[in-house]
Amino acid sequence: MDSRLDNAPCGYFSITDAGIIREVNQTLLNMLQHDNPELAGLHVESVLSVTNKLLFHTYFYPHIQLYGQVNEMYMSLRTNSGGDVPVLLNGIRRTRDGESRIDIVVVEMRKRIEHEKDVLQTKVKLQELYQATNEANKRLELLNEEYERKQQELMLINSRLEAMATTDPLTGLRNRRYFQDHLTTLLAKHQDSGQPLSMLIIDIDHFKHINDTYGHPIGDIVLAKLAELLQSMSRETDIIARFGGEEFVAILPETGKEQAVDIAEALCRATAATPMDDYRITISLGVATAEVGETNGTLVKKADTALYASKSGGRNRVTHAGDL
Ligand code: GH3
Ligand code: MG
Ligand code: MG
Repeated sequence: MDSRLDNAPCGYFSITDAGIIREVNQTLLNMLQHDNPELAGLHVESVLSVTNKLLFHTYFYPHIQLYGQVNEMYMSLRTNSGGDVPVLLNGIRRTRDGESRIDIVVVEMRKRIEHEKDVLQTKVKLQELYQATNEANKRLELLNEEYERKQQELMLINSRLEAMATTDPLTGLRNRRYFQDHLTTLLAKHQDSGQPLSMLIIDIDHFKHINDTYGHPIGDIVLAKLAELLQSMSRETDIIARFGGEEFVAILPETGKEQAVDIAEALCRATAATPMDDYRITISLGVATAEVGETNGTLVKKADTALYASKSGGRNRVTHAGDL
């Protein structure tokens, strides 16, 4: 054999149509760990594993008989010690010296196969990572939704709590705390803007008599009914609150003395004219209008003094602190 073919950088061997090996180059002998050309004369099956024998018979032979050549066939050859050598194989059928020969070259494919395995493993890992990321993202989305839901619930609970903390449960009006806070705010606003600000204290006349005569539960109904009336007659910017017991307060923003007294008198008349359930009551009112340097304390005190004057003046009436 020509030494260039003998030591070519690929394995070479030729076989007869019957599969008998005729020539083997040194490169293939090295590849299959054979020391001498002892392979010549053996059947090609002696360098094939069982599965590859099958492949050879079902693919290689029919193909080469039909088309005269086989290209890029992947298979494994068996070494002398029984190991496998993965190879890429090309074969061509020729007639030489009147005899049919199949020339076959093989190139070892170990590196490529390992590389393919690496690529496959990387692909599997990437898929696993992708799936894990996907699942983590889904969990994150669920957590996010849950967080938003809880946040909404919390906001709702907070607003309910705030409403509860500032509402009088019997009448549904704002409570004393809310009144005090808002009076502070509105007084500051009044001092900045110079707009007038008035307030009323409203006290039911002889309320003890209602309780004593009809019972405390009826007293409660009367309180709720009066609260309803006061609220229904108030303007949007007015703040009506239960000050405590049978006393109510109103803050009247942007309202001067005259208008505040008018409002108070309207409330006084309406209360006397409106049956609370089946019961009739009257109220006494004290009115005060904020002056320069007014505080919560001084304004409430003035209104209270005016209320006292309404009581001692005969009840069911209105007194403005400025008239005392
Ligand atoms: P005046 O005309 O001087 O204001 O007389 P009054 O009887 O209205 O005043 P007094 O302060 O003597 O009595 C107020 C009554 O209001 C006594 C108390 O039992 C009653 N009261 C306070 N809070 C409530 C309540 O929530 N429900 C009921 N039913 N009664 C209440
Ligand atoms: Mg009272
Ligand atoms: Mg009273």
